[in-house]
Amino acid sequence: MKIIMLGAPGAGKGTQAKKIAEKYGIPHISTGDIFRANIKNGTELGRKAKEFMKQGLLVPDELTCDLVVDRISQPDTSKGYILDGFPRTIPQAEALTDALLERGEKIDYAIDVEVPDENIIRRMSGRRACLACGNTYHVENNAPKVEGICDACGEKLTLREDDKPETVKKRLSVYHAQTQPLIDYYRAAGALVEVDGTLDIEVLFNDITKILGA
Ligand code: ADP
Ligand code: AMP
Repeated sequence: MKIIMLGAPGAGKGTQAKKIAEKYGIPHISTGDIFRANIKNGTELGRKAKEFMKQGLLVPDELTCDLVVDRISQPDTSKGYILDGFPRTIPQAEALTDALLERGEKIDYAIDVEVPDENIIRRMSGRRACLACGNTYHVENNAPKVEGICDACGEKLTLREDDKPETVKKRLSVYHAQTQPLIDYYRAAGALVEVDGTLDIEVLFNDITKILGA
């Protein structure tokens, strides 16, 4: 099963993607997590990506597409995967479609998690992220068991630099200009599924599993 998560920054893509990956036994591939890991490890890719990320801009397609095409060729993707945060532009979607076509494959579901912009800024200021394992929490909606500590790996949680309100506004405008057109792209491909991201996390997950099947 090959799945893409679509939706604005903070819509809840990562939260649902982790749960889907666990339930269906497929890898969760987040380009944001890959870039943050590269920043943490001080790689050349991390250095380049950071310049764009801290401004709320997209990392250029030429730094992103090959990375994902390579990742989805790894042996652990034989049963499928869930892509979270990729594609984010039409050229990225086209690169993915072409890479899959070469192998006679296609995306089965593009799940668009819909949340109005008004809700996003409040969500993002309450988001706490684990840079070690990629888990995300919310101080009110999805609090960790121990404040400031990741339930999964025990590392300290942080407020992401790009989750500050000024940067979130920029990211939202970039989303509307560059990523939202992917909704029509995947509708035309017959893969689009639209879900209500304002629902409670577990209620939404239940809706998604009904769509994907048991
Ligand atoms: P994205 O991956 O789309 O950027 P996240 O999954 O990191 O978004 O979610 C953004 C924030 O909103 C996190 O703090 C998360 O805990 C919280 N959150 C996710 N889904 C919901 C939901 N359905 N209702 C309320 N808060 C949510
Ligand atoms: P995310 O963790 O998905 O919210 O991504 C955080 C940031 O990483 C984004 O604001 C972009 O700067 C960058 N990024 C992640 N995925 C992509 C992508 N597919 N294309 C371009 N930039 C990306």
